[in-house]
Amino acid sequence: MPMYNFVCRDCGQTFDVKLRMSQAGDPQTCPVCGGGDTRKRIGAVASVGGSARSAALAVSAPPVSSPFS
Ligand SMILES: [Zn+2]
Repeated sequence: MPMYNFVCRDCGQTFDVKLRMSQAGDPQTCPVCGGGDTRKRIGAVASVGGSARSAALAVSAPPVSSPFS
């Protein structure tokens, strides 16, 4: 489940909320002041991709070999 970062426009508090994709656009309540005037700051916090990136690098770097051997 992706994590979204919100900022409260009332008190300026930022907080992370785990949301389903279908809930990503729903308004969130500030955990500090309870205000509902919050705004999403980033699309999603990048928390995946470390192992996937290294795997992609391994694939994009084929072993050096001669086609004539
Ligand atoms: Zn607040």
